[in-house]
Amino acid sequence: MKTIYFDNNATTKVAEEVLEEMRPLFCELYGNPSSMHTFGGQIGRRIRKAREQVAALLGCDPSEVIFTSCGTESDNAAIKGTLAALPDKRKVITSRVEHPAVLQVCRSLENHGYTVVEIPVDKHGRLDLDELERQIDDDTALVTVMYANNETGVVFPVEKIAEMTAGKAAAFHTDAVQAIGKIPLNLAKSRIDLLSISGHKLHAPKGVGVLYVRKGTRLQPFMLGGHQEAGRRAGTENVPSIIGLGKACELAGKNIKQENQRVKCLRDKLETAILAKCPDCRLNGDKDNRLPNTSNISFEYIEGEAILLMLDKFGICASSGSACTSGSLEPSHVLRAMGVPFTAAHGSIRFSLSRYNTEEEVDYTIEKMPEIVNKLRELSPFVPK
Ligand code: PLP
Repeated sequence: MKTIYFDNNATTKVAEEVLEEMRPLFCELYGNPSSMHTFGGQIGRRIRKAREQVAALLGCDPSEVIFTSCGTESDNAAIKGTLAALPDKRKVITSRVEHPAVLQVCRSLENHGYTVVEIPVDKHGRLDLDELERQIDDDTALVTVMYANNETGVVFPVEKIAEMTAGKAAAFHTDAVQAIGKIPLNLAKSRIDLLSISGHKLHAPKGVGVLYVRKGTRLQPFMLGGHQEAGRRAGTENVPSIIGLGKACELAGKNIKQENQRVKCLRDKLETAILAKCPDCRLNGDKDNRLPNTSNISFEYIEGEAILLMLDKFGICASSGSACTSGSLEPSHVLRAMGVPFTAAHGSIRFSLSRYNTEEEVDYTIEKMPEIVNKLRELSPFVPK
């Protein structure tokens, strides 16, 4: 059975071109870039190229790119590194709908004497900007708000928030793990100080990420040890994955608008048909201000997990929340923050597409979804008679 993969916000396929670029780095060019010999030195040149490729996609200077081991590390490094550099300030502002890589870090700070403010969202998942602005004061070290939500795809006005934050002399970090490759960025023209990305969300391998740090931003290194990454992140570089991430950024930057327009058309076709053909379902998240690839739909009276299992029987992969929260019976904290009723939050499914999806896959899923929903509702004790 062919797999139809609609779970690209969880992780993506490594692009063939990326794999090809990485291949020689395992058994032929395996030197350590920190070594003095030519064999190791040539690896340094390749890392420089990867740094330039990442910088081109971010619209920044290569010196502002720090390679890390994942998005989670980038988020931790940004938050903890900023607070260590600004020890006199004791307040951090974030949102209620962040990925755990930010939310858990922020919540842990409360045990260390920090005031942590979580800004609420409305029923469409939009951030309360007035409340955010009111909260930024002289004691605020950092505002950390995601670029785009991993569960609903809702995009936050981060440039506006970065301006607000700069005006109050606090640092601004954004987790752009889901935005990268889907939204064009130009950090040279932005007030964003720190930005996290992760390789495995844009067709590079798992286990590599980037923290962008704007020149002049105060940050203490998170990982201490050797002098790698100009002393800003110790640890021998994950060379093949860094090279792969460079290539993935180059590919993502090519035709970024056209590629995402095509993905959006497929997503819209899937979403519109499901909403039309399945009664008692609703879209979660701001329809007009979303990533082009993401659709989060709640189906009343049935469990998201049950839908996933039935989809799986047809080879269709989707998700009932973020991969990190699946396995827990708690409904998604994102949907709960948006005030989605408990039953609807439990019956939510996220479809997340990529440039590798086809119209045939969308059509097949459109055919199967009403069948699955009807069958589960026939068995459900919650459907009103
Ligand atoms: N931030 C967001 C918004 C994510 O969606 C994810 C992964 O799902 C992460 C951070 C964590 O990235 P990584 O898996 O590379 O640690």
